[in-house]
Amino acid sequence: MVEVKLNKPKSSAGVDTSGALKGSSRTEMKSGSDIDVFDITIIGAGPVGLYGMYYAGLRGAKAKVIEGLPSVGGGLAALYPEKLVYDIAGFPQVRAKEYVGMAYRQAAYYQGSYALGQKVRELNRRDDGVIELVTKRGVHYSRTVIIACGMGAFVPRRLDLTNVRELEGKGIYYSIGNFERFKDKRLLIVGGGDSAFDYVMALEPIAKEINLIHRSATFAAHEESVEKVKTSSASLHYPFWEVKEIHGTDWIEAVTAVQTQTGEEKYFEVDACLFNIGFLANLGPIKTWGLEIWRNSIKVDEFMRSNIEGVYAAGDIVTHAGKIKLITTGCGEIAIAVNHAKTYLDPTAKLNPGHSSHLKR
Ligand SMILES: Cc1cc2nc3c(=O)[nH]c(=O)nc-3n(C[C@H](O)[C@H](O)[C@H](O)COP(=O)(O)OP(=O)(O)OC[C@H]3O[C@@H](n4cnc5c(N)ncnc54)[C@H](O)[C@@H]3O)c2cc1C
Repeated sequence: MVEVKLNKPKSSAGVDTSGALKGSSRTEMKSGSDIDVFDITIIGAGPVGLYGMYYAGLRGAKAKVIEGLPSVGGGLAALYPEKLVYDIAGFPQVRAKEYVGMAYRQAAYYQGSYALGQKVRELNRRDDGVIELVTKRGVHYSRTVIIACGMGAFVPRRLDLTNVRELEGKGIYYSIGNFERFKDKRLLIVGGGDSAFDYVMALEPIAKEINLIHRSATFAAHEESVEKVKTSSASLHYPFWEVKEIHGTDWIEAVTAVQTQTGEEKYFEVDACLFNIGFLANLGPIKTWGLEIWRNSIKVDEFMRSNIEGVYAAGDIVTHAGKIKLITTGCGEIAIAVNHAKTYLDPTAKLNPGHSSHLKR
């Protein structure tokens, strides 16, 4: 089993999570017979899982996180690292990748184990209460588990049109990591939600030309973003505009869009087309773990407990009566999960962790 143990950071400055958490210097091997049972194992190192690692440390738990991707950060790192996020408590605005850096640094205040690049395939609760988490590289053991897997695997919604799959990565994108490569390019952005509008705002100063098409009369994006884009140099085409045809062989060359009510067509010569028409939830193996699932989400109670004893869940993957899928609410949920896992592990422990500002460091 390959794991990375993280120590307390020496300073609070300049943590680069991608590098730090792909690091190899603190890698240790464990043989199959060297069974190490953790108190709390979190599946998924998105913003919620990272905050859970901090919280597990705060509660004195021996904690591990297992992440399918080679680095931490979940959706923020994988889908929108360059975007500014405005609604995280205490941050008037913060770039997604920078928030991940700070979340990691906070988690790394306590020593925890990070098993990166390992997708959990099976979850089995043994009769003795120990939970086995099976990955391709081996089995992890834990007394409690918190599932913070977001939407599961990220699968962008695709249009069922000729050329879409063929030109993915050749001018067709669903998310963008490096904005600079769109400098002086002609872009067509498809969608009316926050992602589409955030990309327009971020790329408008550097791209040569941006057109956005949307099929509805209203936008799901924040009103403020819509107003900003309307007064920018980007051109908005809505309502009822949809992609009809994608042109190009080795690289995208143009897109034909159609106004579905009037039949009018527009031909956009483009260097790239960015689809922001949503993601499909794909729980993958999680569906087979015996959890109660409702609409691709794990049902939890007010303690963030699933139907399997010792197994909790938090963040985008859960559903409950008041569920709202946001970073801030997910972080609150995993704090609840960790505190309840703590009293499950040790019934004499207090549920309330006390105030971190009172703790001696
Ligand atoms: C474009 C976009 C913009 C957004 N903007 C905002 C915003 O402004 N404010 C806001 O609050 N929210 C925003 N969100 C939503 C926010 O990103 C999510 O609420 C948040 O990422 C949920 O965090 P999470 O940790 O629950 O899940 P995720 O971030 O999805 O992380 C889950 C992690 O679990 C891993 N994983 C999944 N399955 C397994 C497995 N079987 N084994 C191991 N690892 C696994 C994944 O690889 C991933 O790293 C936005 C979302 C998108 C797509």
